[in-house]
Amino acid sequence: MAQLLFKDVNKVYPNGYHAVHDFNMEIKDGEFICLVGDSGCGKSTTLRMIAGLEDITAGEFYIDGKLANQMSSRDRGIAMVFQSYALYPHLTVYENLAFGLTLEGIDADIIEEKVQATAKILGLTDYLERFPRALSGGQCQRVAVGRALIRKVSIFLMDEPLSNLDAKQRVTMRSEIKQIHRSVGATTIYVTHDQTEAMTMSDRIVVMKSGGYVQQIGTPYELYFYPKNLFVAGFIGEPPMNFIRGTVEGGKLVASGLNIDIKPIVKDAKALEGKKVVFAFRPEAIKLEAQPSSYTVTSKVELTELLGDTTNVYATVGEGEGKTNVILKVNPHYAPKMGDSFKFVIPHTASYLFDAETEEVIESDLKRH
Ligand code: ADP
Repeated sequence: MAQLLFKDVNKVYPNGYHAVHDFNMEIKDGEFICLVGDSGCGKSTTLRMIAGLEDITAGEFYIDGKLANQMSSRDRGIAMVFQSYALYPHLTVYENLAFGLTLEGIDADIIEEKVQATAKILGLTDYLERFPRALSGGQCQRVAVGRALIRKVSIFLMDEPLSNLDAKQRVTMRSEIKQIHRSVGATTIYVTHDQTEAMTMSDRIVVMKSGGYVQQIGTPYELYFYPKNLFVAGFIGEPPMNFIRGTVEGGKLVASGLNIDIKPIVKDAKALEGKKVVFAFRPEAIKLEAQPSSYTVTSKVELTELLGDTTNVYATVGEGEGKTNVILKVNPHYAPKMGDSFKFVIPHTASYLFDAETEEVIESDLKRH
């Protein structure tokens, strides 16, 4: 097990590209951390710096209190699982699992014991004599995880390990990886661009934005209910949060289709007078039946999608230049039809305001629920 500490860690590639800016974080022993963000935001670069596959340009990186900037990969107690699986095609599953141990000169008896135990955990016992070409994507992924697992390291690094699997296999492997983490307890850093994967697996998530900037670090709950800025608010949640732009005038948010009293949802409404803001709410937060209030919004339904447990309603709010697209999640039994005028209520507790200029959330005392 291992505790990791990053102090102002930066990465500038030899061509001058600054891929990671001032990464600061403490990762506790045994935590499961996801680095999430769009392609190119510096997730893999960060992971590769932890692995010792990339130099750290500036800042300090500690493993268990020891400065590790210059530590060789070998000495870091790390196992890495790649997106490509990186299996040896000419070796059987057994040989793939045993490979690292054989190199280390470990006794065949012990290797046999470890391979069998790892295969059992991962449901690979019946496939040990097969070659990778005769395995499904999910089975290849299990072998790749098994190769990391068998080495009994204290830090697991995983770079988009599920992205080559189909949707169903991804869901299965997600819970398998979580179970393995629970039983093995190794500190795990997991890179993904998929916010659902991050939300379902992590103890804490690091949201990164292109250019290598950390936007927020927090538990899935914190990121979903208390996003610090527009980027995180829009990144976490599917379908994404709805944003309606407007201006604060006389303590009210004035936007096309809205006229909302902002006092209940911010700490200091006076300070916002004249400011350009973004009003935000999640598709799933709206209510249909409630006393009409200033938080009642009338929308025009453009399209509906029945998903089974819910219907996604694509609608517009407001008219003219300020017309804004929104997505609403509605109980299918009460879903409106295309072309309908549709009224819904946004609860105070689910209403957010962001500063349109800085994109930071505006302070609020509301307890979200
Ligand atoms: P992610 O994993 O989030 O998709 P990466 O960490 O792979 O992003 O890359 C971050 C940025 O650094 C990208 O813009 C990428 O093009 C750039 N980059 C990655 N490797 C190198 C390299 N060896 N030299 C220069 N730029 C690189």
